[in-house]
Amino acid sequence: MKLHNTLTRQIDEIIPITPGKLGVYTCGPTVYDYAHIGHWFNYVRMDTLVRALRYEGNEVTWVMNITDVGHLVSDSDDGEDKLEKGAKREGKTAWQVAEFYTADFIACMKLLAITKPDHITKATDHITEQIALVELLEAKGYTYVISDGVYYDTSKFEGYASFARLDLEEQQAGARVSFNPEKRNGSDFAVWKFSPDGATRDMEWDSPWGRGFPGWHIECSAMSMKYLGDTLDIHTGGIDHVPIHHTNEIAQSEAATGKRFANYWMHSNHVMVEGEKISKSLGNGVRLQEIIERGITPAAVRLHVLESQYHGQSKFSWDGLVAAQNRLRDLQAMAVLRYQARPITHDTATFALRDVPIELMRAVAEDLNTPAALAFLSGVSTQLQSVLIEDDMVDHFEAMLAGIDALLGLGLGETPDITASQKELLIQRTNARSAKDWAASDHIRDQLTAHDIGVRDTSDGPIWFRLV
Ligand SMILES: [Zn+2]
Repeated sequence: MKLHNTLTRQIDEIIPITPGKLGVYTCGPTVYDYAHIGHWFNYVRMDTLVRALRYEGNEVTWVMNITDVGHLVSDSDDGEDKLEKGAKREGKTAWQVAEFYTADFIACMKLLAITKPDHITKATDHITEQIALVELLEAKGYTYVISDGVYYDTSKFEGYASFARLDLEEQQAGARVSFNPEKRNGSDFAVWKFSPDGATRDMEWDSPWGRGFPGWHIECSAMSMKYLGDTLDIHTGGIDHVPIHHTNEIAQSEAATGKRFANYWMHSNHVMVEGEKISKSLGNGVRLQEIIERGITPAAVRLHVLESQYHGQSKFSWDGLVAAQNRLRDLQAMAVLRYQARPITHDTATFALRDVPIELMRAVAEDLNTPAALAFLSGVSTQLQSVLIEDDMVDHFEAMLAGIDALLGLGLGETPDITASQKELLIQRTNARSAKDWAASDHIRDQLTAHDIGVRDTSDGPIWFRLV
């Protein structure tokens, strides 16, 4: 498997620290609002990475965090905590807000066939680990305390700017407006924030420095290293995280352990919605629920995501979704051929079915080139629908579908057979056609259409497919 590694700015072959085993950490959602299509592009891609690594035979431990405290409105530690803000908006506690949106996120993950991570870690369940990490950084001289919290001194970490190729002087000049005068450097960030004077937060804990809550960045460092060790194989996240969040995770983790934090960094690029960047003001952060309400299935959303590669800029559009739904329907029409295998009429193998998942994996292994994988799959579908399948191919065909699903998560193997009474209709239609009773044949076709079943006639007899 090769990936575009942000650390080296090149395509690198993934070499596990322990052969056959891989630890993957994904920055999960901040649960103060619904996830939108931009998030789902990220998570479907990370899931596809994990699926592919497992398909290659690796034992993968996948960890995804839930940020349920400490993520401020600005990534660089300015403004309100997003959870407390969400609580005010909804007249609930921050705990209730976190619980509601976490449950919604997990339900949507399931709909999109995103594999359940081995560990879904909530920041609020790991306060002890985060405090311990801040204590370690303090003992090593990387932190200082000012009036609103404990900060990490980025000037003490050599190479702070290198991961994101940051120009720190320019960044400081640009950040002057919000520059906290007590901070030693503009890029310094809070690892522990104090609760505001005289105010009680819904979420706050005691610490050696005072009552308060952890910084967003320390959460990911503490939780990823707890479950995956000091050095992770692969760390993934949205591209927005490169200059601040991931830069800060590296600074904290490497200062604490003296080791490299992650060997490979995979970043999912921005998604353009109908040609625009997703923003609050445009209100174009489409939710999965809205898409489903328009009659598009989650599997079609997944297919739409896989139609672009993760490090290029991707496009989401309603027309694109409809096209993806049609493309999925075509793949499902291929999948149901297994219910319609014909008696063996010739002994020449028509298609190397077992090679199909291998070819797909070959495309996915090239830097998650899912567009190439899908193009190949569409070609397979066209060929199979022209040659159809024979009785002795069914086992291989089902194994092929299982392989495609394991890699791409499109659920093709779950496309159901038609019922006995629907099969009876097909037979009646064939009989009517044999008797040249076209009116009866047309009438039965209409009945099948009402059951969302289409029919095409071939020299081998009728072949049915699902219309929805
Ligand atoms: Zn993170």
